[in-house]
Amino acid sequence: MATVEQALQRAAEQVADRLKNKSASLNREFLSLEKQKLELEKKQAEIKATLDATSRAPQRLLNFVPVLGPDHHCPACWINHKTRSRMRSTLGTDDADFLRCNACDFEVEISFDR
Ligand SMILES: [Zn+2]
Repeated sequence: MATVEQALQRAAEQVADRLKNKSASLNREFLSLEKQKLELEKKQAEIKATLDATSRAPQRLLNFVPVLGPDHHCPACWINHKTRSRMRSTLGTDDADFLRCNACDFEVEISFDR
């Protein structure tokens, strides 16, 4: 017959064992949540950057210079990043020419008026 002290000690050991068994799965869950948190923070930062660009777009549109001397400027690079990127001519068709951005590959069709 166990003493009260022995019974309580055994019960304490069982509680400790249960926690120990649970810790591995809790650690996995914790790491998984940490990874999800980092992914959500990254996505949140991307959305914030897009929202910031959206709020600046009207002013950038006003300041866009499509052509400067021989250079054609990419509208996407200007509106999104306020950078002047040159565009190059690419193979056209019978109906249109195409300009493609050297930086972001944004393409603009310049259709021939017939
Ligand atoms: Zn571009």
